[in-house]
Amino acid sequence: MKKIKMTTPLVEMDGDEMTRILWRMIKDELLLPFVELNTEYYDLGLVERERTKDKVTYDSAYATQKYGVAVKCATITPNKQRVEEYNLSEMWKSPNGTIRAILDGTVFRAPILIDSIKPVVRNWTKPITIARHAYGDVYKAVEYRVPSKGKAELLFTGEDGSEFRETIYDFECGGVLQGQYNKDSSIESFARSCFQYAIDTKQDLWFATKDTISKKYDQTFKLTFQDIFNNEYKAKFDELGITYFYTLIDDAVARVIRSEGGYIWACKNYDGDVMSDMVSTAFGSLAMMTSVLVSPDGKYEYEAAHGTVTRHYYRYLKGEETSTNPIATIFAWSGALRKRGELDRLPDLVDFAEKLEAACIDTLNDGIMTKDLVGLVSEGVSATAVNSSAFIKAIRERLEKKLA
Ligand code: NAP
Ligand code: MG
Repeated sequence: MKKIKMTTPLVEMDGDEMTRILWRMIKDELLLPFVELNTEYYDLGLVERERTKDKVTYDSAYATQKYGVAVKCATITPNKQRVEEYNLSEMWKSPNGTIRAILDGTVFRAPILIDSIKPVVRNWTKPITIARHAYGDVYKAVEYRVPSKGKAELLFTGEDGSEFRETIYDFECGGVLQGQYNKDSSIESFARSCFQYAIDTKQDLWFATKDTISKKYDQTFKLTFQDIFNNEYKAKFDELGITYFYTLIDDAVARVIRSEGGYIWACKNYDGDVMSDMVSTAFGSLAMMTSVLVSPDGKYEYEAAHGTVTRHYYRYLKGEETSTNPIATIFAWSGALRKRGELDRLPDLVDFAEKLEAACIDTLNDGIMTKDLVGLVSEGVSATAVNSSAFIKAIRERLEKKLA
């Protein structure tokens, strides 16, 4: 069989631990035999980040800006224990944080659905994609405990020395106090990434805040979205027959539960943190969640939502077989290859991505799965747990048939 050709390089970001092992297996079994992979390779494994003083992470993000599409393996975010384990000269920052800051992007997370695993919410028949504004608000807040009686004020000093001052509360006893912020530029990028991704995936976009209570802060989010939509995206939405829908966050939660899914739900930072865990748990497993970072100017970085699966890796190092689920990592590759194919007008590459995903779904629907999923299947479905390499081989058999 002739291998499928690529024109523009795909930025490949390798990673750590068990997902690094899966990365190799996926490339060897499911990609290299079929595609003349044209990637620009960056090793974001912790050893290489240490060796390059994290330069490799920055370089990979700049390459993504240049070429437009990247695929990333899960990576370790160092903590104190990792600094010792890897003998690090510094506690390097989270690669995802670095890449997100450079691309100024928003993360979209969507579950992969299969027939034999029913969402906890019965009427969810289509995926719900969560878009989380991963900047500012309570995550960058200043806060302290108020020790006793006294007055708290909010003071802003302009560059020209002008002052706004408002009393927050006249404390008659001790309490707590918090100051949070966001930036117009960040809210605008968030809005543009959401509208862009809704157009890409031809799905409706929902957005919700608490603007009835937060009349300046959340109101700014609401108005920014509405202005950018009216001025830049409305025509394209109308043409595609998709809608932008704004509502209050509590109303959104009620509607989401009653919905059948099939839309993007954009959330402020805290709402996104909480709601994405609720939605992903209700759909099934972290190992079945995909994730894509989309920048406001249309650059894409695809990855799995889960981490490096450290517990499995330590077993792997002891020579044990592990049943780690590679699906979300495979879908990161298929997502990136499909996007590369669309941008470069390579129908064969798009077709390959479709068939790779279909082969994964077929394998699961045939009852061949990794351990994490077997416990989740509906009553009456027979499923067998296999290890990662047997699972990937079963996908390959089905993929070969589809490509033949
Ligand atoms: P994790 O790697 O997502 O794994 C947590 C647990 O979830 C695993 O122990 C496993 O449960 C289950 N799991 C996750 N993915 C699975 C898969 N593909 N197949 C089967 N089971 C899966 O999270 P973590 O253990 O908290 O973090 C490990 C490392 O990953 C950390 O160093 C963290 O910094 C990093 N991390 C990276 C990213 C990223 O690069 N995007 C995201 C999150 C975390 P059982 O052990 O019960 O089987
Ligand atoms: Mg969280």
